Amino acid sequence: MGDEFSRIARYLAPLAGPEGLGLTDDAALFTPPAGQQLVFTTDQMLEGVHFIPGDPPSLIARKLLRRNLSDLAAMGATPLGYLLTTALPSGTDESWLAAFANGLAQDQTEFGIKLFGGDSSSSLSHISLSATLIGYVTLGGALRRNGAKAGDDIWVTGTIGDAALGLLARYGKLQDYSGFLANRSLLPMPRMGLKLADIAHAAIDISDGLVQDLGHICEASHLAGHLHAMLVPTSPEAAMFGDAMLETRLTGGDDYELLLAVPPDKSEALRLACGDLPVTKIGKFTNGQAGVTTLDQHGQEIKFLKSGWQHF
Ligand SMILES: [Mg+2]
Repeated sequence: MGDEFSRIARYLAPLAGPEGLGLTDDAALFTPPAGQQLVFTTDQMLEGVHFIPGDPPSLIARKLLRRNLSDLAAMGATPLGYLLTTALPSGTDESWLAAFANGLAQDQTEFGIKLFGGDSSSSLSHISLSATLIGYVTLGGALRRNGAKAGDDIWVTGTIGDAALGLLARYGKLQDYSGFLANRSLLPMPRMGLKLADIAHAAIDISDGLVQDLGHICEASHLAGHLHAMLVPTSPEAAMFGDAMLETRLTGGDDYELLLAVPPDKSEALRLACGDLPVTKIGKFTNGQAGVTTLDQHGQEIKFLKSGWQHF
């Protein structure tokens, strides 16, 4: 691999927007959209922790952006651009960086964002990546975790648990005949652009697992969440594995669907706002001790061994 400057020039400079000044200055210059509130989020991806060594570099790049984009979606924000930090082991083949940059370029086009700047260095062993996304919302228009009200329904977009089963499939622990589940794990789809500011009281994206992320809204909003396991939307590919995989589906991470607190009189507005994207009512918030209770079809509580992804 060539020296750092020629690598940056070749693979990353073409990704830069005007804010990045060709990646030749010390920092980026960015003029925020007038009257808007900026939204920042950052996420890292470490080899062996967030992706499997040998995963396709273009998909790693796209998932890095999409995990961050999903956080912006959860806040109701529109993305603008990003800063990128990479640390690659010194022996990394140049084709890895080429494919990685290709993945970035693809999702820059798909989501209308540009590279603003960043930093690259070499690491002693593993690949380490980080992206900081910058977006905007109208002043005061951000969706927060702390706005849910007693009586709000709990809704989720898409289907839940595919990515967790997909990860098992990628480790050879279950059969994924169509490749659908593995794809949901490798290339999540952040739910951008839904106009939910006047519909949802609270939102979070499901990155750590449905039960755990619902718990974050419950804690921030000081409410109890009652989750009906049988109502949680499941893809046909995931449903094939039956209730044996219920805990994995409800507590596994990486789905990047949105979890929403919506008052009952906004149900129809929510469906309209989501258009072709399926959205499903799966429970209710009530007053009571903050936390999640998961119920089976008989209304009996289901106890899980863990509620979701643990970082440490
Ligand atoms: Mg999040």
